[in-house]
Amino acid sequence: MDIMHFTAVTLGEAIRRKELTAVDAVKAVWKEIQAKNPAINAYITLNEEEAYKQAENVQKQIDAGTLSSPLAGVPIAIKDNICTKDLRTTCASKILGDFEPPYEATVIQKLKAAGAIILGKLNMDEFAMGSTTETSYYGATKNPWNQSKVPGGSSGGAAAAVAANMAVCALGSDTGGSIRQPASYCGVTGLKPTYGTVSRYGLIAYASSLDQIGPLAKDVRDCAAILDCICGSDPYDGTSLHLPKAEYAANLSKDIKGMRVALPVQCFEKGLSEDVKSRVLAVAQNLKEQGAIVEEVPLPFLDYVIPTYYIIAAAEASSNLSRFDGVKYGFRAKDYDGLTEMYSATRSEGFGAEVKKRILLGTFVLSSGYYDAYYRKALQVKAFIKQHFDQIFEKYDAILSPVAPTTAPKLGESLADPLKMYLSDVYTVSVNLAGLPGLSVPCGFDRDGMPVGAQLIGAALGEQKILNLGYAYQSTTDFHTMFPEVK
Ligand code: GLN
Repeated sequence: MDIMHFTAVTLGEAIRRKELTAVDAVKAVWKEIQAKNPAINAYITLNEEEAYKQAENVQKQIDAGTLSSPLAGVPIAIKDNICTKDLRTTCASKILGDFEPPYEATVIQKLKAAGAIILGKLNMDEFAMGSTTETSYYGATKNPWNQSKVPGGSSGGAAAAVAANMAVCALGSDTGGSIRQPASYCGVTGLKPTYGTVSRYGLIAYASSLDQIGPLAKDVRDCAAILDCICGSDPYDGTSLHLPKAEYAANLSKDIKGMRVALPVQCFEKGLSEDVKSRVLAVAQNLKEQGAIVEEVPLPFLDYVIPTYYIIAAAEASSNLSRFDGVKYGFRAKDYDGLTEMYSATRSEGFGAEVKKRILLGTFVLSSGYYDAYYRKALQVKAFIKQHFDQIFEKYDAILSPVAPTTAPKLGESLADPLKMYLSDVYTVSVNLAGLPGLSVPCGFDRDGMPVGAQLIGAALGEQKILNLGYAYQSTTDFHTMFPEVK
């Protein structure tokens, strides 16, 4: 059996039809992991023994007719900032050491209840801060399409695992693009849901007002099926929304006739590579041919999104990361004299350079004297961005833009020029600042054969519309069915 030919949904169907078992599925994925993970480094922790146990258990329930969810028996891998009970959760940081959470994130509870099989924990940028998965304490993940390139970040392990068939699908998190950008660099489909759609309980916080968990998968249908499973209100997350019963997968429709799509002109101007530009404009053409109305709109705030995002994200990170002090979790420094020194030695040794930089920046913008000049100002710009998006969505169903200005850069290149790396988040961060849903779909390759992604942004709770646009696009193209040969 070749796992490559299955999506999460078709695999679930095959298992329910008894064409194969959940154990067969885990075996098939494990073969890929063994062959490819040593080179790609997508996983930090493998959950092999438990995965087989879970698969046997799930198969019994399927056989008994007590479990029939679309994801029953489907192997899924989890970004390592999502807490899994008794399974090491590191956030790709030294400071968490061998932390084994005493509880399960809500999304994991939901996946397990649906019969999905947890394969292991995926590599990422330390505390989800980065765009390349190079800031991981556990070493960089390689892009399966070209191992001299990054897989994107921070959910780089998730994107690489799905692209290389080392997982049928994965959960990532997106604070400023961390699902959409790696999905685009690795040629897979990724969805960042509307803020509040998916519970953040058990997601180790980076910037709480921006963080959202979402799927990285082989196609739009899989993303819809996974969202159906993980979304919904949660008493443990006060920001989670009460939504009607999720039926994103059942409501998928290819009929996009008359849908209105906005093309923000500023996103196609300076800084965008020609290859990415032509591929994304080809998506616009495809949607037009299927009956959508595509029109240019201005996006006047684009120059301000990067400073606004990095001020707010760093401010929240500096507060969230204060809990890592050597007392409660994982790692504690060995040499210190007294409590204060224990804190500082632990944090100095436990956090990597990028995380420290953000803590310093965040503490600075929140300090008295600078709060008004930076943090408050950033919140004002954030409100302006949200308003402007709202105006666009009065007239349009979705916005189409690139995901990133270029395809995946070479390993080592981005950390040498961090400002350039931050600027590469220009098309994704405003979606988080405004709390909107964003979908990244593979839309072709650049001249070096690296995948390109297009982004569809929806109004708040407009998931169905962007999923339908993506679904219509994927029904008429085959970029999402192409996989790299990993050696
Ligand atoms: N690259 C952005 C950052 O470093 C986004 C990361 C994310 O979405 N987690 O903050």
